[in-house]
Amino acid sequence: MARSPRISLAEASRTSGGLLRRGDTAQDDPAHPPTLGDLTESLFFSPGDGRIWLQNQRMVLLHGAAFGHLRRELIDTLGADKARGLLTRTGYLSGARDAELVRSRWPEGELLSVFLAGTRLHALEGVVKVTPLAVDFDKLRGTYEGEFRWEHSVEADEHLAAYGVGTECACWNQIGYAIGYVTTLLGQLVVFREVECRATGAAACRVVGRHAAAWGDVSEDLHHLHAQGFHSPAPSTTASPDPMAPTEGRATRTPGELVGASSSFHSACHQLARVARTRATVLFTGESGVGKEAFARQLHATGPRAAAPFVAVNCAAIPETLLESELFGVERGAFTGATRSRPGRFERADGGTLFLDEIATLSLTSQGKLLRALQEGEIERVGGTRTLRVDVRVIAATNVDLHEEVRAGRFREDLYYRLNVYPIHLPPLRERREDVPLLMDHFLRVESRRHARSPKGFTQRAMRAMMHYAFPGNIRELQNLIERGVISCDDGAAIDVPHMFRRERLPDELLLSVGTDGNLQREGNQARSLRDAVAAALDGGPQPLHRIEQHLLRETLQQHGGNVAAAARDLGLTRAQFAYRLRRGEQAPAPRRRRSKAAKDS
Ligand SMILES: [Zn+2]
Repeated sequence: MARSPRISLAEASRTSGGLLRRGDTAQDDPAHPPTLGDLTESLFFSPGDGRIWLQNQRMVLLHGAAFGHLRRELIDTLGADKARGLLTRTGYLSGARDAELVRSRWPEGELLSVFLAGTRLHALEGVVKVTPLAVDFDKLRGTYEGEFRWEHSVEADEHLAAYGVGTECACWNQIGYAIGYVTTLLGQLVVFREVECRATGAAACRVVGRHAAAWGDVSEDLHHLHAQGFHSPAPSTTASPDPMAPTEGRATRTPGELVGASSSFHSACHQLARVARTRATVLFTGESGVGKEAFARQLHATGPRAAAPFVAVNCAAIPETLLESELFGVERGAFTGATRSRPGRFERADGGTLFLDEIATLSLTSQGKLLRALQEGEIERVGGTRTLRVDVRVIAATNVDLHEEVRAGRFREDLYYRLNVYPIHLPPLRERREDVPLLMDHFLRVESRRHARSPKGFTQRAMRAMMHYAFPGNIRELQNLIERGVISCDDGAAIDVPHMFRRERLPDELLLSVGTDGNLQREGNQARSLRDAVAAALDGGPQPLHRIEQHLLRETLQQHGGNVAAAARDLGLTRAQFAYRLRRGEQAPAPRRRRSKAAKDS
C-alpha cells in the first residue's frame, strides 16, 4: 500500500488541531483511519447492475478524454469565466460529498487523518496525486493553512491537450474539490488557490489553502463558487458566505417515512404532491412492503383534509363475514353478538381519508357495497334503516394487477374504474437501489431510538451485502433486517452481516472491489459469514477438527482475496501462525487416511 512519506502526526493533532511541517519525513501512522486501504475498500464495482459505489455514493467512470471534451465545450460555448465557475462548483460538490462520506463513516477519525483522507480520495478517484507539503490548522480557532503538490492532474493534462501551455492556472475543478472538502470538514470557508500549474509550464501544480479571512480579498474566488441557478439552496449572499449549503444532499426526507433520492422515488413523490391537493381517488400499486401505506399517510397529511381523520383498513386482514360491519358499521341487534351499535370505518373517516389496503381481496359482494358507497356518498349500517351521508376521500392499494383481476372476473370492472382515477406505481426496492443507503441510515436512527441502542453504523461488507440483496420483502424487509441488526449488535460496534441476515439468501451476484494491488478482485460470497463456512464444513455430519480448521482457513483466505495477513487478522492469528496452519493442512495425506490420523492424534 502506497503511503505518503511526508506526513507526521503532531501530538497537537490528537486534540484540536494538526501540524505537518514542511520537509517532515516521518511515516504516516497507518493505525489512524481512514487509511488509503480503508478508502480503497470503500470503492466497489457492481458491473452486473451498472453501478459503482464509493461507500454509499454512486460513482461513474468517465473517460479523461470525455471530461476534457466537456471542459473544452464549456469553455468554447460559455467563455472561460462561466466555464471556470461551473467546473469549480462541480468540484466543490464532489469535495463536499467526500467530506460527508468520511465524516459519517469515520466520525471519530483523528482530525489530521480525516483532512488528509481528502487527498487520498482525490487520488483514488483518479483525479490527481496529492502530496501534502505542510498543513497547520486549529479546529478551535478555525484557522487552516495547507500547501499541497499536485501531480498527474487530469485537468491540467486535458487543458494542455486542448490549448497547449498558457499563462493561467487551469485546475479549476480540482480547486473546487479542495475548497468543498476542507470547508465542509472545518465548517468554515477555506479558500484554495493554485499558485503554480502544469498548464503554465510548471513541472507540477502547487496549491495553497487558507481560511478566507487570512487571504484578505476573496471576492474573485467566491465569484467562481457562487452563481445563480446553481444547486439549491442558493448560497447566502450575506457578509458571511455559506458554501456549506450545497452539502445538504439530494435526499428527500418528509415527516412520514418517505426517504429516497432515486428518480423513480422522486417521480412517485411528484405525482403524490400533484394529486394531494385534490379530492381525487388514488390507487397505489406495487409489491408488498414498498411503502404504500406510508405514501397514503403522506398524501393525507399534505392534502386539505390533514386535520381530519386518516383511517386505514387492511381488507385482507378482516374476515369476509365481518367486513361489511367493519366498513359500514352495525346497529344493535343486527346479528347475534351485535350488542351495541357502532360506527364503521367509513363513518370514522368522515371528512378525512379512508385507506383501503389490499383491495383486491374483497369478495364480489363487498365490492358491490363499496362501489355504492363511493358512487352515492351514502352508507347504511348493517341492520340499520337510516341512510348516512359520508364525505370520505378513498385511497386504495393493491399488490396485484387489478386489470388482470377484472379480466379474470374476480374484480368488478365498474369499481376498478372508480378506483383507478389516479394510479401511482411504487417501484420495488431492487429497482431503486440508490435509495438503500439512505433507507439504511434512516432506519438505523429510527430503530436505535426505538430500542435505546447505539450501534456505530454498518461495516463495509454489511453495506455491500445490503446493496446487492434482492429485498423480496422490499422496504419492510429492509427495516426488519436493520431492526434485527440494531438488537443483535453490541453498543458502539458496527452492524455486520451476521447481525442482520439469518436465513435470507445472500446475494451471489458478481461484485468486485479494489484489492491492495490496485486490481479488481471478485467479492463473490464475501458476505458469507464464517458461521456459514463452518456449517458447510459440517454438512456431511461430524468432521475432525483439523478438517474444519482447514475449511475455515481456506474460506477466510478466499474472502480476503488471498491476502494472508487480512485473513489471519479475522481469525485472531498472526500471519505466521495462519500460514503454518494452512501449510500443515496442505501437507496432510489424503482425506481418508487423514481421518484415521486425526483419530490417533486426538
Ligand atoms: Zn494545475
